[in-house]
Amino acid sequence: MSIIAENLQAVEATIGRAVDAAGRPRSTVQLLAVSKTFPAEAVLEAMAAGQRAFGENYLQEGIDKIEAVARAQPGAPVEWHFIGPIQSNKTRPIATHFHWVHSVERLKIAQRLSEQRPPELGPLNICLQVNISGEASKSGADPDELPELARQVAALPNLRLRGLMAIPERQAEPELQRQAFARLRALADSLRAEGLLLDTLSMGMSGDMEAAILEGATIVRIGSAIFGARHYAE
Ligand SMILES: *Cc1c(COP(=O)(O)O)cnc(C)c1O
Repeated sequence: MSIIAENLQAVEATIGRAVDAAGRPRSTVQLLAVSKTFPAEAVLEAMAAGQRAFGENYLQEGIDKIEAVARAQPGAPVEWHFIGPIQSNKTRPIATHFHWVHSVERLKIAQRLSEQRPPELGPLNICLQVNISGEASKSGADPDELPELARQVAALPNLRLRGLMAIPERQAEPELQRQAFARLRALADSLRAEGLLLDTLSMGMSGDMEAAILEGATIVRIGSAIFGARHYAE
């Protein structure tokens, strides 16, 4: 078995323990394999082991990989999620190549994605990224501005607002990890109470996926636990 297949099995076991501890069915948590910095061959290996959903942070790298995977495995069922920072002049290729975007934090970006989404592809699935760590984080919408932003994004025609995403400040202590994830869940609950139909909490990475699942994550975004340590060329 390849290392990636073995790692996927280990991650699956961790997810299994966490859903059991939370009393949730396994089917309520989707594993998003974060393949940023790894080549298309790594994605193909994960696909051979049964993985279907992949997350990318860097636009050009992501598009190159999407195209390489499509050439190697034409028609294979694969779902691409954009999870990185979005520049407003780069929205069109995101709207045309990806199935999901987790990192929307401004109305202007959402409007552009909606305008540029080819209607024949169906609505682009959107999560609003929220800053739940205050000063410790630069990215994500302010929780105070979230209700207004969510209402406006939910009204855009070619998007489907699915839920919220967060990257909390790194914490070693499981209790502190859970507190941050619980804040995101509470924000989603309050938006639902206002009538928004949200089914997604995108939270949890290699170091904190169990805490995230205990607090209701429906998508965990796992990179290094599947593909190994990242090396950034610089
Ligand atoms: C890189 C990244 C991940 C995966 O992180 P790991 O710690 O390697 O699991 C998840 N989400 C986002 C937004 C990322 O940028």
